[in-house]
Amino acid sequence: MITTQDELQIPALGLWLDARRPRDLSFISHAHSDHVGSHARAIVTHETAELCRERFSSKADVDYEVHDLGETFSVGDATCELLSAGHILGSSQLFLNHDGQSLLYTGDFKLRSGRTHPRCETRKCDILVMECTYGRPRYRFPDRAAVESELIARCAAALEQGKTPVVYAYALGKAQEIIAALNRAGLALQLHAIIARICEAYERLGIDLGPWKRYERGTTHGHVLIVPPDARRTPMIQGLFPRFDIAVTGWAIDAGTKFRMGVDLALPYSDHADFPELMEYVERTEPGRVYCTHGFPDFVHYLRREGVNASWLSATEQLELFR
Ligand SMILES: [Zn+2]
Repeated sequence: MITTQDELQIPALGLWLDARRPRDLSFISHAHSDHVGSHARAIVTHETAELCRERFSSKADVDYEVHDLGETFSVGDATCELLSAGHILGSSQLFLNHDGQSLLYTGDFKLRSGRTHPRCETRKCDILVMECTYGRPRYRFPDRAAVESELIARCAAALEQGKTPVVYAYALGKAQEIIAALNRAGLALQLHAIIARICEAYERLGIDLGPWKRYERGTTHGHVLIVPPDARRTPMIQGLFPRFDIAVTGWAIDAGTKFRMGVDLALPYSDHADFPELMEYVERTEPGRVYCTHGFPDFVHYLRREGVNASWLSATEQLELFR
């Protein structure tokens, strides 16, 4: 395997991993924009193909090669399989065997379960290439159900005070988890148009999110409003009074997040693994070698301390795993 300009490739197979620049053939682990490119051909799950089509009409020419989770297929002379990543709907990991060695590439993942996607699957492997977004010990997320309960309680309290609770959540994945959680508490929801469109795609893919309405100016009273984080500075939000702003992000572990984001409350809620989950993931997969990417490079030191053969995967590093 080789890394070029921050993009991962397995040259022996002509296969890129979550490349953003257009490539002949890339695996797309999930439909978040930092993992998607305008490739000639892309290996994806059915759900990721649908969500990419919905979100990136400019990438409409991509030939999606769709595989089910657990189905085996070939790329060159490698045997491949997609495993659930437990990150968002459609998210998958790539597991492959080539030349007597197995490699597992995680994309984004978490071990804790969500309401709108299957759980992460782990598999023993020789070589592990993993994301480590929250790879420092201070990132320990509280129990997901407890955070959801606090979110519900704070939204209900704001509504009682005549305020509109506004929840800032990534449009794809996080927002749908929040919608499913708030609906269980019977709260009335209005959604930003971008989130509403993605919810419709989720529903076409068979995910029941419960009732919601599209945002309509002047009618938000009595509703929880769910919007993407970058909507905060738009007239839609700036003209809305009185309101109570809540950010849901893993970075809420950092004390300054509430002030940095300019919200009334920041709750630690993420679709990524926290530090203990990252460590547990490596323990479960028992890799002979680990390459870390997408996060804090010092995460490799925590792995080495546990006796794991770990390296940071940098743009300048060349690795020839599959010669
Ligand atoms: Zn992601």
